[in-house]
Amino acid sequence: MSTEASAVEAPEIVVVGSANIDTVIRVPRLPTPGETVLGTSVTEFVGGKGANQAVAAARLGRRVSLVGLVGEDAGGAVVRDALRAEGVDTANLRPRAGTSTGIAMIQVDDEGENTVTVVPGANAELDAERVRASELALREARITVLQFEISDEAVVEAVRLAGGTVILNPSPVRPVPGAVMDRVDVLIVNRSELALLAGAPEPATTELAAELAAGVEGPAAVVVTLGADGAVLVRPGGVVVVPAVPVEAVVDPTGAGDTFCGALADALVRGEDLAAAVRWAVRAAAVAVTGPGAQSAMPTRERVLAGAS
Ligand code: ADP
Repeated sequence: MSTEASAVEAPEIVVVGSANIDTVIRVPRLPTPGETVLGTSVTEFVGGKGANQAVAAARLGRRVSLVGLVGEDAGGAVVRDALRAEGVDTANLRPRAGTSTGIAMIQVDDEGENTVTVVPGANAELDAERVRASELALREARITVLQFEISDEAVVEAVRLAGGTVILNPSPVRPVPGAVMDRVDVLIVNRSELALLAGAPEPATTELAAELAAGVEGPAAVVVTLGADGAVLVRPGGVVVVPAVPVEAVVDPTGAGDTFCGALADALVRGEDLAAAVRWAVRAAAVAVTGPGAQSAMPTRERVLAGAS
């Protein structure tokens, strides 16, 4: 009985990554050093690329578990409650004493200029041992999704233990250890991340992006997200260009890339082939840019099917 119950609950997707509290303060203008300005509002959101991608996939109907660390503080409880409310399994999101939940402190002025301070806190403490504690989930998941707001050590261990398809979104970008690259099934990068990994200037066209992506050694397939130009999939079988879904107005592109990654994982779990999964991710990301914020703009399956606009 209990075996059956746990089989039903087993996550389809394991995301190994960061979870933050993002605090957004609106100010008439950004303070200069030593200056105090009066802000007009303060809003808290749950963010971090790991949490974002986990929510994106969960909202599309997938069973998702997030492997990560938060502090033993109020922020950690906020993160866990918010993720649970989204249906994300938080059994592998552990509190760690002696550190704080990761935060991003964002000030935005009336011109839309901002300053951002990130304190990784507990996210930076995620080590191989902690990842190993989630070994069963990693071995059994259909998909493991990783980003770069955690240490190389954690990424290397997660990739080693992953039993299914590995999706790596190396953001914020830094060189990817060779042993990781060789085990990546789908590398998802935007233009600037691709440029840095390829050691080349940012590709101005889809064709140039495809050419650069073809030169990246290791992953079985590379998907380059191209903002308003959509995405391109490059794999040994050839190149698939997927134009963006036109939207009436871009409200806020924050989180579009995270929605893309979550949606691509969702489609692969549903048995779509990679080209169809990229088309689905492009549709989901188009909806995400039409709403404010990151997680708040992530669509449900019904919303993606209804289309962006
Ligand atoms: P990131 O935010 O990680 O830099 P992109 O800007 O490439 O990623 O956006 C991710 C995906 O979001 C794109 O591949 C595209 O499908 C979608 N997208 C982004 N901007 C737009 C837009 N203006 N209109 C429609 N879709 C968009």
